[in-house]
Amino acid sequence: MAQAVKRLFPGVRVAIGPAIEDGFYYDFDKPEPFTPEDLARIEQVMREIVQAKHAFERQEMDRAEAIRFFRERGEPYKVEILEGLEAPRVSLYRQGEFIDLCRGPHVRSTGEIAAFKLLSSSGAYWRGDERNPMLQRIYGTAWLTQEDLDKHLWRLEEAKKRDHRKLGRELDLFDFYDVAPGAPFWLPNGMILVRELERFAREHLDARGYTEISTPMLVNKKLWEQSGHWEHYADNMFTVEVEDEIFSLKPMNCPESTYVYRRALRSYRDLPMRLSEMGRCHRNERSGTLTGLIRVRQFTQDDAHIYCRPDQLQDEIHQLLDLVREWYKTFALQPSYKLATRPAKKLGTEAQWDAAEAALHDALRANGLVYELDAGDGAFYGPKIDIHVEDALGRSWQIATIQVDLTMLPEQFQLEYIDSDGQPKRPVVIHRAIYGSYERFIGLITEHYAGAFPTWLAPVQARVLPISEKHAGWARAVHERLRAARVRAELDDRNEKLGYRIRDAQLRKVPYMLVVGEREAQNGTVSLRHRTGEDLGALPLDRVLADLAREIGSRASSLTAGR
Ligand code: ZN
Repeated sequence: MAQAVKRLFPGVRVAIGPAIEDGFYYDFDKPEPFTPEDLARIEQVMREIVQAKHAFERQEMDRAEAIRFFRERGEPYKVEILEGLEAPRVSLYRQGEFIDLCRGPHVRSTGEIAAFKLLSSSGAYWRGDERNPMLQRIYGTAWLTQEDLDKHLWRLEEAKKRDHRKLGRELDLFDFYDVAPGAPFWLPNGMILVRELERFAREHLDARGYTEISTPMLVNKKLWEQSGHWEHYADNMFTVEVEDEIFSLKPMNCPESTYVYRRALRSYRDLPMRLSEMGRCHRNERSGTLTGLIRVRQFTQDDAHIYCRPDQLQDEIHQLLDLVREWYKTFALQPSYKLATRPAKKLGTEAQWDAAEAALHDALRANGLVYELDAGDGAFYGPKIDIHVEDALGRSWQIATIQVDLTMLPEQFQLEYIDSDGQPKRPVVIHRAIYGSYERFIGLITEHYAGAFPTWLAPVQARVLPISEKHAGWARAVHERLRAARVRAELDDRNEKLGYRIRDAQLRKVPYMLVVGEREAQNGTVSLRHRTGEDLGALPLDRVLADLAREIGSRASSLTAGR
């Protein structure tokens, strides 16, 4: 690209051009910005350079020699880069008439470059500093095959269409107002998502021996001093003065859950104790970093703290991994696992760490899971498993974490249980969240499904569309039957053409349309259409109700997204 730019604009000087994720950019010193027509011409010249199959030739020089070389060629940015290097020798690569400072490696010749596209251009300051000259940056992407390139360009387009902030407004899920930066206003449709996710979570947790608690949001600073947050985390906490005392909105639920544990003397027989909490937390993120539902100031964690004996740790982790796998399967999200082990600075004994890390390794293996090892990346109080999921566009999101706590809560809050030998011992605490937070998870699945949620989650699951006024009676009866069967249904009897109302239901991503006309009214049937455009034909209403109930009840995940 730089070679093409130099051919077309000989006076332009080249600055820096690194590879970035999924592509590359190059900064040029050029008085006027590049126009879209410029980019098309540059691409054309790039194609000519590819066709010419110029070999890439490596050349090494002493740094001082390279500085002279680029000074003579009138490339001051290269000179500045070289002056900042310490290496005595540097490498350059030549292809045809173009030569550039580069560490390499390269493909053998420009002829091997199969598929590329220039994406955009924008102004960028030299070295990112606004006191420096403004340069012109061109972004591009390159792939091994045209097919890979097409797929990448499709993903970029899709990501724009699927942006949860855009879909959140279009589908009336949530909105943001400047009076509450970083905190969503949940609209009725969005609250249905929240409630369905809560219901899903509670069903799973109830079946697995969790009990639910709820702890206060506004808490005296004394607690945060004891937990260590006041010393290490105060900058991220919102504080409030109440009757001359300082309180804070909780940034996490951990310390408060210990109050529930400490209410009574616990015996080894009481453990494990699995306390879950839909905990609403606040963190003072800088306003410039807030992003939709992904980076917020107020969020609700699907939190849990599991208090167990050290000998129960492996089994608890095993069950948790099983739960995580089952949970994400429902959302057609592909999890991957990372185990982070002891860092250099840590609390607790080597023996405690050995046992905890072995428990995590064994639980991962016993679940048949492939995992990556992040040696030394654990917290100072225990090892953890981070879980990433891959969405429908192949993007990775970190949402869940299973964190073993050997010392922090147990020591700071002097947690104990009486063991079978009559002696008081410290329990181990597992901190874990599976959605992560409801806000972030809803942002993720909105993009993952492109707003076309599976029927069990869809805010409106079915719309009844009478062909004309004459069929209003049967349409109302169908609507009533749907509601009685607990299907979230709407009746669209607006005075609009059927085609218009079908398109509207599709735009609103309503999974099913039940069209009723003369024949349907006579036969007690409905003509069923899916939002994908598929015509499922005329079916008896009872059959449709039974099928819908089954699809919703099983929480079937259809990824018919986007269409
Ligand atoms: Zn916690």
